[in-house]
Amino acid sequence: MGIIVQKFGGTSVADPEKIHNVANAVIKEKENGNDVVVVVSAMGHTTDYLIKLAKEVTKNPDSREMDMLLSTGEQVSIALLAMAIQSHGYNAVSMNGQQVGIITECIHSKARIVDIKTEKLQKHLKEGKIIVVAGFQGVTPDGEITTLGRGGSDTSAVAIAAALNADRCDIYTDVEGVYATDPRIVPNIQKSDIISYEEMLELARVGANVLHPRSVETAKQFNVPLRVRSSFKLDNLGTLIIGVENMEIYKPVAGVAADSSQIRILLSELPDIPGTAAKVFGELAKNNISVDMIIQSLASNGTNSIAFTVDEGEIESAIEIVNKVKTDFNAGEISVDDNIAKVSIVGAGMVDRPGIAADMFKALAENDINIKMISTSEIKISCLVEKENANKAIKALCKEFGLETEIEAVVKGDLPNV
Ligand code: ADP
Ligand code: ASP
Ligand code: MG
Repeated sequence: MGIIVQKFGGTSVADPEKIHNVANAVIKEKENGNDVVVVVSAMGHTTDYLIKLAKEVTKNPDSREMDMLLSTGEQVSIALLAMAIQSHGYNAVSMNGQQVGIITECIHSKARIVDIKTEKLQKHLKEGKIIVVAGFQGVTPDGEITTLGRGGSDTSAVAIAAALNADRCDIYTDVEGVYATDPRIVPNIQKSDIISYEEMLELARVGANVLHPRSVETAKQFNVPLRVRSSFKLDNLGTLIIGVENMEIYKPVAGVAADSSQIRILLSELPDIPGTAAKVFGELAKNNISVDMIIQSLASNGTNSIAFTVDEGEIESAIEIVNKVKTDFNAGEISVDDNIAKVSIVGAGMVDRPGIAADMFKALAENDINIKMISTSEIKISCLVEKENANKAIKALCKEFGLETEIEAVVKGDLPNV
C-alpha cells in the first residue's frame, strides 16, 4: 500500500458524466489499496472563460484580483468531484490551496510553490479519506491567493506527490501519453513508453504543453516517478517519465515542438565596442524580462545588430527598455516581428551526433521553410520560422527523424486550453 497522487485536467472533468468517470478512476486506485490524493483543474474551458470575463470588465485587470477570480474555477471542480466520489459510497474531502497549505511566493499569476504543509493531508489520509485538492493555486505566507501560471495544476500535483513522498504521480489527460509531437498536428505520431526527465523538461519548455515545465522540474528534483496517461482508457499505462540513470538507449530525436508565443526584436547600428550586449541584456534582466534566442551580427559599416526574442506578454516593457538603450547608444531603428514561431527538436541522443543539426536544416529547406534564427543546447536545436510554417516544419521534422507511425493517436476533447 502506497500513496498515489492523481491529476485530472480540464477536459477530463468537463461535465458531470466525466466527473463520474474520474470518480471511478480514483476509486479504482483506492480499491488497489492505495492512499489517494487527487488534484483537479477547472472544468473544460472555465479558466479561458474567466479571463475573457475579466477583460470584458477592464482591459487591464489587477493581477491580485485575477488570481482571486481564476482560483474559483478549480474550487468548483473539487467540490463536484468530492460529491461524485461520496455518491459512490466512499469518504472524500475537498481542499483548496489555502486549506492544504500550498505556500507560494507572492507573484500573482506565475507564483512558484515554496512549501507544502502535509499535516492536514496526512490526517485525512489516516482517516481513510480520498482527498481532492484544487490545482493551480496557492497562498502566500500573508494569506494572499496566488495562481501558478496556465497549466499549473500539473505542478500542484507533482509538488504534493513530492511533499507526501508519494509512490507515483499520474497525470491523466485527453491523450494516451507523451508523443513525439502534439498528436493534434501529426496524428500518426509515435508515443513514448518511457522518456527521461531531461528530455521531457526541454520538450515542455519549448512548447509541448502536455506537461507544465515546472511539474517536470519538480519531479526531477525530488525524483517523483511521473506518468502521463489517458482519462478515457484507464488500463493504458501511458508514458513513464523517469531519471536518466534508468535509461540506456536514446533516440537522437525524442520529440518536436513549437512555440508561437515569442516576438523578435531587432536593434541595429549599435557600436561595435565592449559592453554593448551587456548593456542591452543587463537592462532587460534588471526588469525581469527573460530573453530566449539571441543573434549578434557585424554589418559592413562596422556596426552591430542584435536580434533577440522575448515572450509576447513582455513585449511592451521590452520595447520601452530597448528604446532607452537605443537613445543611449544613438543606435539605428528598432524592428519588431511577431510573425514567428520557434520550432525545436529535443533528444538526449543528439549529444555526440554531429549530423542532427544539418539534417534539421535540410528538412526545413526541402520544405521551403526559411530559418530566421538558430539556437542550440546540449539536447535541443531550435529554429525560428514564420508562424504559418510552424506546423509544416513540425510535420517535416517528424518525417525526417522517423517519428511517424502507422497508428493514429486518439485525441479527445477540443483544442487544449493552454
Ligand atoms: P489537461 O487539460 O489535461 O491539462 P492539456 O491540454 O494541458 O490537458 O495537455 C494535453 C494536450 O497537450 C493534448 O491534448 C495535446 O494536444 C497537447 N500536446 C502537445 N504536445 C504533446 C505531446 N508531445 N504529447 C502529447 N500531447 C501533447
Ligand atoms: N485551469 C488552469 C488553466 O487552464 C490550470 C490547469 O488547467 O492546469 O491553465
Ligand atoms: Mg495541462
